[in-house]
Amino acid sequence: MSRRKQLYEGKAKVLFEGPEPGTLVQYFKDDATAFNNKKKGVITGKGVLNNRISEYLMMRLEEIGVPTHFVRRLNMREQLVREVEIVPIEVVIRNVAAGSFSQRFGVPEGQPLPRSVVEYYYKNDQLGDPMVSEEHITAFGWATTHDLDDIMAMALRINDFLSGLFLGVGIKLIDFKVEFGRLWNENDEMRIVLADEISPDCCRLWDIKTNEKMDKDRFRRDLGKVEEAYQEVARRLGILPESGPRDLKGPNIMQ
Ligand code: UDP
Repeated sequence: MSRRKQLYEGKAKVLFEGPEPGTLVQYFKDDATAFNNKKKGVITGKGVLNNRISEYLMMRLEEIGVPTHFVRRLNMREQLVREVEIVPIEVVIRNVAAGSFSQRFGVPEGQPLPRSVVEYYYKNDQLGDPMVSEEHITAFGWATTHDLDDIMAMALRINDFLSGLFLGVGIKLIDFKVEFGRLWNENDEMRIVLADEISPDCCRLWDIKTNEKMDKDRFRRDLGKVEEAYQEVARRLGILPESGPRDLKGPNIMQ
């Protein structure tokens, strides 16, 4: 990891200069933070699992035509991605009330929403990532209405696809956060692509039968067995070898 020039260090990942222009290496750490950095910890093995899980989900999304920054996984903790200009908005998609939504609107955690709800938060640690509307986003110039049309359409498509994918392995996708970036081609045409990561760090995933949490809420709420939960998600997706690296069976479909 030290061979490459470090460009940025975030809470859970480090970005390094990539091997060719227009690429970056995304390194997944075991560090975990919650409540806007007030709670800090280490989840041993998390980086390895998130690297795998995010690779798997981004590849499945590419297959259905959702453009992403993902190029390929390089090793246990690193993946090669395209360099994009990150839109400074966290896009949260919710299917079931939980977390800040339950608190803000007084809806009990676990109550299904009548339709999927998309929310925007301005990415700014100092301000604690305030919730913003399309009006704020366009007025401040963080994205255009056209960008937001693309983002909303992609977010809903990602939600439908991932909801089905997780349901197939006995997991309910309660909510999740995604980030998008701008990617330019050789003719200077821009398109919005899915960036960052999709992993149990930024999703709420509940077991379909028991409602047991299989995501970062185990860390946020001190529920224990955090690494085991991430491992179980990977195992169900068929990307955690059960007895060695050659023993990958593909998703464990639930009947
Ligand atoms: N989320 C995230 N990063 C953030 C805030 C939220 O990945 O900075 C994810 C979180 O894991 C959950 C969803 O977005 O899956 C909705 O989170 P919520 O707004 O309920 O916030 P929280 O309860 O984490 O404060």
